[in-house]
Amino acid sequence: MNKITKLISILLSIAMLMTISLVFASAASSSYNPAIGDVYTTGPYTVTLNDVSSDKIPDVINILDHIILRNYDKKTGIFAIAYQLKGTPGFQNVWPSDYFLITPSASCSEEYKEDFVLEKQYDSTVDPKFTHYLPYKIRFSITVSRPAIEHNGDATCENAGTCTVCGETYTATCKGGTATCVKKAVCDVCGKEYGEFDADNHNWSNLNGICANGCGTECTHTNQTGKACGICGQKLYKTLSGTVTSFGSETDEVTLLLYQAGDRENAYETTVTGNSAEYAFERIEEGEYILEVLKDNHATRFYEVTVGEVNVTVDAKIHLIGDIDGDGTITVTDYSKTLKHVKKTTQLEGYEMQCADIDGNGKITIADYSKSLRHVKKTAFLW
Ligand SMILES: [Zn+2]
Ligand SMILES: [Zn+2]
Ligand SMILES: [Zn+2]
Ligand SMILES: [Zn+2]
Repeated sequence: MNKITKLISILLSIAMLMTISLVFASAASSSYNPAIGDVYTTGPYTVTLNDVSSDKIPDVINILDHIILRNYDKKTGIFAIAYQLKGTPGFQNVWPSDYFLITPSASCSEEYKEDFVLEKQYDSTVDPKFTHYLPYKIRFSITVSRPAIEHNGDATCENAGTCTVCGETYTATCKGGTATCVKKAVCDVCGKEYGEFDADNHNWSNLNGICANGCGTECTHTNQTGKACGICGQKLYKTLSGTVTSFGSETDEVTLLLYQAGDRENAYETTVTGNSAEYAFERIEEGEYILEVLKDNHATRFYEVTVGEVNVTVDAKIHLIGDIDGDGTITVTDYSKTLKHVKKTTQLEGYEMQCADIDGNGKITIADYSKSLRHVKKTAFLW
């Protein structure tokens, strides 16, 4: 079979299939009425229905029942516009299903836009029940458009060829390979680099947050899911910082330890000086921590800290031993609090209790009260 015979036989068998399917479609849904201005697409083409008219078909409520674009042939650029006409209510006859072939002709590399008027005449053999109106003529007006597309054919980037759609001689663009942030794609055919760098195609495989391709880009860690960046896989660290307030010596160090419960040995540690000092732990993984704050002559204090998806600020304050209210001195207020605790009239709790437990035996007794009193009376200083 030569090419044309083959094409005609394919189109004829498709037309037969269309007729059958359109009859079924029509039976299932008679409400599908193509409207002026409707837009259809097939392959790279857009078809707009501009107008429909007929001669000698009076009393027809919908001239067109269906429009379907099909059979776009990539090799030739030809496609079919299939349609079915519709009878009046009361005449349940099936009117012709038919098609037009559209052959856009233009260079593929240019935008295409053309108006077509499609016209067909039918004779009375089509609709024996409706003989006094036949023969009749149906007419559509459509606009076919298409953006510029690539030529089609056997040409490669090395050997020119003829485009099967538009007939121009062309050379194909290179293909294959993958561009990265530092390398253009390498063509599968000619082996040369082509196209552009892909500024977004980094290689985060070394998990240090810096592109392994060598472009110098650091991952911005915008995809923060869980404990590691979802893009580069780098562990996500957070900062824990704040101000630590203490009393007494301005030059004694304040030590801050940060550890997970039960793992004080592997604590992060930092020291600061001054009675109001800034501290920071710069690279902390997410988790639950204990922040321990120590300074000579002070009651050690523990804070529970949760480091989550954002940086955390914890301001800490430690008191001199015996200074329950944290004003920097021991006064009657402090030792009377101790006494009330001993007499069980007002219980001290938490850090207040630690400040009051001067001998550090875990209990608050009259001995702690006496030491506190001696400090105030200047007979024996606690610090
Ligand atoms: Zn072409
Ligand atoms: Zn190539
Ligand atoms: Zn890169
Ligand atoms: Zn990252």
